[in-house]
Amino acid sequence: MLKKGSKLNSILTGSCPKCQNESMYSDKNPLHLTKVLKMNENCSHCGLKYQIEPSFFYGAMYVSYGLNVAVGIAAFIVSFVFLKATIGESFIAIVITLILLFPFVLRLSRNLYINMFVSYDPKAGLK
Ligand SMILES: [Zn+2]
Repeated sequence: MLKKGSKLNSILTGSCPKCQNESMYSDKNPLHLTKVLKMNENCSHCGLKYQIEPSFFYGAMYVSYGLNVAVGIAAFIVSFVFLKATIGESFIAIVITLILLFPFVLRLSRNLYINMFVSYDPKAGLK
């Protein structure tokens, strides 16, 4: 499912969207919160500049917004419908879920956003 060349591979692993040979982030672990947004400037395999234009990743905020709404709805359904929590408890569950998943949503939104603009190129990165 995560074979090289699929957009899903690049989105879920945070690898370079063009050659998928290396991670875009200088620290692959999103739980290292001080480095969650630290990205390499270029891909060392294909030379793709990740920051396609100045402030490119500001657009990822809109993707992040959509993802957070989806996460919030999922947390609400799980707590309110399946765990029979009250509205107040469900609200707290949503807030806790959003805080816990924040580093993952942040990176996922960046991965999704850059993959909307850059496609996989099997010839990229071959020297
Ligand atoms: Zn690359």
